[in-house]
Amino acid sequence: MAVPKKRTSKSRRNRRRAHHDHVDAVNYVTCARCGSPRLPHAVCPKCGFYKDRQVFEVETESTSEEA
Ligand SMILES: [Zn+2]
Repeated sequence: MAVPKKRTSKSRRNRRRAHHDHVDAVNYVTCARCGSPRLPHAVCPKCGFYKDRQVFEVETESTSEEA
């Protein structure tokens, strides 16, 4: 079985672990229809469109007033 030849120093160990808890930035693309940021390969939450097709009706203030 492979065994470490030298003890890892605190410095080296801490440098190795330093990037373990970092958070990756969420990837955003711009909606081609309304220009708002949205996640790639996902329906736009602002206009409800995906690939030039309306997937769902977007709830607006005017529609909520009618109900
Ligand atoms: Zn949109």
